[in-house]
Amino acid sequence: MPGSLKTEAIVLRSIRYGEGDRVLHLYTPHRGRLSAIAKGARKARSRFGGRLEPFFRLHLVLYEGRGDMLTVTSAETAAAHPRLRDDGRALDTAARACDAVARLFEQGDPNPATYHLLANELALLDADPARGGAANQLAFRLKLLLAAGFAPHLATCASCGEQEHLVGFSGAAGGVVCAACEASAFPLDQEAHDFLVTALGTPLAETPDAAPRALAQAERAILETLEHHANVRLRSVSTLA
Ligand SMILES: [Zn+2]
Repeated sequence: MPGSLKTEAIVLRSIRYGEGDRVLHLYTPHRGRLSAIAKGARKARSRFGGRLEPFFRLHLVLYEGRGDMLTVTSAETAAAHPRLRDDGRALDTAARACDAVARLFEQGDPNPATYHLLANELALLDADPARGGAANQLAFRLKLLLAAGFAPHLATCASCGEQEHLVGFSGAAGGVVCAACEASAFPLDQEAHDFLVTALGTPLAETPDAAPRALAQAERAILETLEHHANVRLRSVSTLA
């Protein structure tokens, strides 16, 4: 039914369209992913100014007609994140966070926790751009898995419940596994296991750092979990760290 939709949104992508328009890929708290067209957004005196760019958090009024694409009626800035844009590593980390959200969630699959996680990540990268990098990207992905219902099992062996000798990680089993169950697993160092547990359980701003080998194992654990349980492939994390 046609009508107006008032919502907060984060701009995931902003694509030039036609003579002077933009098509926005948005993430919203209660409707999830949406696409919207902003007519005349690239004209010199556009009422939208420069705020329809990736990583802006906006207060939007959208007109919803009968098609898939909504139309932007008005846009006010909630957070522009200017410092994030001036730092290559923070910018790259923000882009990968938006990309991961877009890949993990289809249109029509709202997830308010994911919206707040992404808003927090962008605010953190803007407040402290040096936070960008591999450890932050992995912590964000772990929290994304949690929000999506795919958090890996980390406390005991995901296959048999054993509490000791957790030496591997199995995407198929959905978590860490013990020495007896490691047939389909890859080796997981104690440092990587500790990183997964801490990154999942503490705020993004307190993500610990870890050695490259541990971060690489943590990344593989996240990738295999997503491939097995969500059938989603993510870009590898940034190596700029
Ligand atoms: Zn086991």
